[in-house]
Amino acid sequence: MTCTHALDVGAYLFGSLDLRERSAFERHLGGCDTCRAEMLRLAPLPGLLGRLTPDDVENLDDLPTVAPKPRKRRLLLATAIAVVVALATVVVLLRPSPGPTWAASDANTGVSASAQMITRSWGTEIRLSLHDVPLGSRCKLLVHDKKGQREIGGWWGTSTADGETVPGSTSFQLDAIDHMEVMVDDRILVTLKR
Ligand SMILES: [Zn+2]
Repeated sequence: MTCTHALDVGAYLFGSLDLRERSAFERHLGGCDTCRAEMLRLAPLPGLLGRLTPDDVENLDDLPTVAPKPRKRRLLLATAIAVVVALATVVVLLRPSPGPTWAASDANTGVSASAQMITRSWGTEIRLSLHDVPLGSRCKLLVHDKKGQREIGGWWGTSTADGETVPGSTSFQLDAIDHMEVMVDDRILVTLKR
């Protein structure tokens, strides 16, 4: 990546550039191969985030027990996940605008969490911070809206220091979100509400 504007691609795709920034970026895109390549690489992602269902992620958990054939798919998914995480991070870095924070702790699991909720044109960005999650766990964030629909807000492995921040997102608008659950397999570690 040799063009500094390549960082704007993520913000552009997620609709977080204003009108003036958008048209300036589109003009730049016409003359920059690096940004056009970056655009092609990332373009499917906003759709991908919205399309993933809890079942998709449950299937992801099953894959390691299945022999060689699904490896390629795993690799592709792992790459997609890495890009989603990187992209979410880029968007966070570009547009830091603090929103309400939801926090909770669970007396049974001992896990505590806080989530900074940020309104976006495409839905809600979630910056999740976790404490006392067992290392080596494969976690996911389930977002429930008030109509009973649910979406995966993110998933990750816990391998780093306590209090790590996990980037997440949902297509639900902030007002439409009822609650969120941090889960390991089918076990709820902690539930977050407004
Ligand atoms: Zn460029």
